[in-house]
Amino acid sequence: MELADSELLIRITELSGENLRSCYQCGKCSASCPMTDFMDLFPRDVIKQILEGKEQVLLSETPWVCASCFSCTVRCPNEIDIAGVMEAVRQIRLREKYDRFHPSRIPLDELEGLPQIALIGCFRKMTG
Ligand code: SF4
Ligand code: SF4
Repeated sequence: MELADSELLIRITELSGENLRSCYQCGKCSASCPMTDFMDLFPRDVIKQILEGKEQVLLSETPWVCASCFSCTVRCPNEIDIAGVMEAVRQIRLREKYDRFHPSRIPLDELEGLPQIALIGCFRKMTG
C-alpha cells in the first residue's frame, strides 16, 4: 500500500512541477554537484526528506547554497529538475517573508565594489 503524499511533497510538486516519486536515490545529483562541501544535506537527501514529508528540510542550508548550475538536473536518470526543487524549497521560505540576505550585512567598502547585477540577482533569490 502506498502512503498518501505529505503536505510538503504536494507543495513542492506544485511549485516545481516535478515528480519526486520517480527518484530512486541513485545519488547522481549529489555526485555531480559542485557545492556539496558547503551543504548540510546532499541534493539526494533533500529529495529523500521531501519524499518522507520531513518539514525540517525547509531549514536546510542546501537550497540557499545551491548555485542553480543544473549539473544535477542534466544528470538525473529520471529527468527530475533538482535545481527546480531547490527553488521550490526557497520559494516556500520566501513566501513566509523570510529574508536570507540583507544589504546591511555587507561591509560598506565591499558594497561599493559589488556589481549591481549581482546585488539584484541576490535580492531576487534571497529575499522575501
Ligand atoms: S539523480 Fe535523480 S534519481 Fe538519482 S537521487 Fe538524484 S533526484 Fe533521485
Ligand atoms: S543546481 Fe544546485 S544542487 Fe544541482 S548541482 Fe548545481 S549547485 Fe548542486
